[in-house]
Amino acid sequence: MKLSKLPRVKLTNLPTPVEFLPRLTEHLNGPKIYVKRDDCTGLAMGGNKARKLEFLLGDAMEQKADTIVTHGTSQSNHTRLVAAATSKLGLKCEMILEHRVDINDDAYLKSGNVFINQLFDVDIRYLAANNNIEDELKKTAQAVIKRGGTPYVISRGGSTPVGTYGYVAAAHEIMQQFDEQNLKVNHILHATASGGTQAGLLIGLASVESKIKLLGICANLPKEAQEERVYNLALETMARLDCGFNIEREYVVVNSNYVGEAYGLPTKKMNDALLLVARLEGLLFDPVYSGKALAGMIDLIEQGKFGKDESILFVHTGGEPGLFAYQNQLSLKS
Ligand SMILES: *Cc1c(COP(=O)(O)O)cnc(C)c1O
Repeated sequence: MKLSKLPRVKLTNLPTPVEFLPRLTEHLNGPKIYVKRDDCTGLAMGGNKARKLEFLLGDAMEQKADTIVTHGTSQSNHTRLVAAATSKLGLKCEMILEHRVDINDDAYLKSGNVFINQLFDVDIRYLAANNNIEDELKKTAQAVIKRGGTPYVISRGGSTPVGTYGYVAAAHEIMQQFDEQNLKVNHILHATASGGTQAGLLIGLASVESKIKLLGICANLPKEAQEERVYNLALETMARLDCGFNIEREYVVVNSNYVGEAYGLPTKKMNDALLLVARLEGLLFDPVYSGKALAGMIDLIEQGKFGKDESILFVHTGGEPGLFAYQNQLSLKS
């Protein structure tokens, strides 16, 4: 695998810590729970998209792009980190935000990531849901060319093969930490949505023939659809990386039982999980992704799906700025 030779810019402070959660472990009386703090990647409140952007923006710089065109939902963490990264690198940014979640209070429309985006030097355009986003991205890129610029389009939350390299590298980082800290971990769990995190972790684990089981807990799509998305992205990425190994389809495992009514809408289990871990460990999660994945992990532990002699690493993918956006949607009582 030729990961180290690929263009990359430094946006993060790696490695992010691996921490043990003693009080949550004791409370659930199940497997040992560790957390990989990818909410602490170090770029503008952090999160998993920072790792993808190191490779995506490395690629963009190599192609001499001067304007990044990207999109997301209005409370997208991805767009926040694109805005921060382009500011840091002195690139222009054209951002399209879609109102895809049916929450319409002031906090959701103005606070959290929506507010933070505006602190950076970016052009933001808001759209209603159900627009043909690929068309909009193309049109925006064409407009950049017309005014003499060189656009680089980042779609799908950075979950292209290039973005996925970030989580192949993260898997290697995790394996090294397990070695250094003498940790035997049986399962890695994390939130999955656009798929790059899971696809990258899968490839990274497969590249060292790890026996660790990976489980993506989904924030939007049904199980089959999400597994297909992750699998296809993994295959595409492996082809680009010239990997000399295969990943079996059965190795791609997604649980979509914790999405609730729809993407971005809070669930009671998410709310309870968020409060439990805040109060036991002083650790914050987000309502859209990591909180729902956390709810899934806790529920699966309570169902006895993991042995007491096993260990889990939960990859915290970030998203805490979303808490401000959801302040009216979250209950403070569990
Ligand atoms: C985007 C995102 C995810 C999902 O990661 P994918 O690589 O898109 O599957 C999980 N957590 C947070 C906080 C995110 O912003």
